[in-house]
Amino acid sequence: MDAYASLACIYTVKKAFTMTSIEITFLGTTAGIPTPKRNHASVYLKYQSENEFTYLFDCGEGTQRQIFSSGLNFMRINDIFISHWHADHFAGLMGLIQTMNLEQRKKPLCVYGPEAENFVPKLLNIGYFVQGFEVNGVDVNFEKHEISTLMETNEFMIQSIPVKHAIPAVSFAFVEKDRIKIDKAKAKKLGLPEKGPLYKQLKEKGKASFKGENVALEDVALVEKGKKVVYSGDTMACKTIEEISQGADLLIHDSTFFEEDFEKSYRHATVEDVLRIAKNANVKQIILTHISRRYQDTDDLKGKIKNYPNVSIAKDFMNVVVK
Ligand SMILES: [Zn+2]
Repeated sequence: MDAYASLACIYTVKKAFTMTSIEITFLGTTAGIPTPKRNHASVYLKYQSENEFTYLFDCGEGTQRQIFSSGLNFMRINDIFISHWHADHFAGLMGLIQTMNLEQRKKPLCVYGPEAENFVPKLLNIGYFVQGFEVNGVDVNFEKHEISTLMETNEFMIQSIPVKHAIPAVSFAFVEKDRIKIDKAKAKKLGLPEKGPLYKQLKEKGKASFKGENVALEDVALVEKGKKVVYSGDTMACKTIEEISQGADLLIHDSTFFEEDFEKSYRHATVEDVLRIAKNANVKQIILTHISRRYQDTDDLKGKIKNYPNVSIAKDFMNVVVK
């Protein structure tokens, strides 16, 4: 395909679909202890298509104030995902839920996480907390080393996989589905029917057979590949984070330590670990987060990633859009 044809093809594909985006705002980027510049872990994710969906991944202490400061709207949060039950990842939940309550939220809220059915009711039963809307803890598998789909719409899925930390912990992936538009003129030219089970099979399997002939999805459809963003939570380097990160457009990864010595005792990843994982998983863009307070400036880290233009270091309130 020459350059002009290739551009024309991209233009046709873009024109066939409404633009979608996944917008990420880092609300907190420190490790166990906050610093003047870094709050506890939390990532705000907004998926924009014809509809808008908003999710929070982790909710460390002070997250609601970070949401206010960033100009985002906590009332738009559909559900919350907690990677593990260390306080730097969940201690902001109580305050945030109480504020949602004061602001008259009525929509039920699900809080997903390993052992969430145990911990969420406990959190809500501390103090004289009046609860005007339903909050449900939803358990996420942290034992079987496989990808679980936690929720699914026509447009996207949110998935998890167990990872390796000192306590039960998971990573999450926001996975946009491939978008497919059948080109009726092309289908007619190939002698295919206007509708029928053939198209369901093509969309699901990428190929089908009609009157003994093989048909590939690309022969009769425009396909826009779905986008994928992965959030590691806290983990050492492991095979499962590589598995869920396969082909991701963006990997947000624990990078607590810059040197190799620490990661084993504290069960976190180093910069070298993340670079290796990203390479093995063919990730397009990497953002390092969960930075230990021992690194008040990140010059050392910048030196380590200077040869990797697709790697950057998270800061509080940093905003990234995957289109
Ligand atoms: Zn942590």
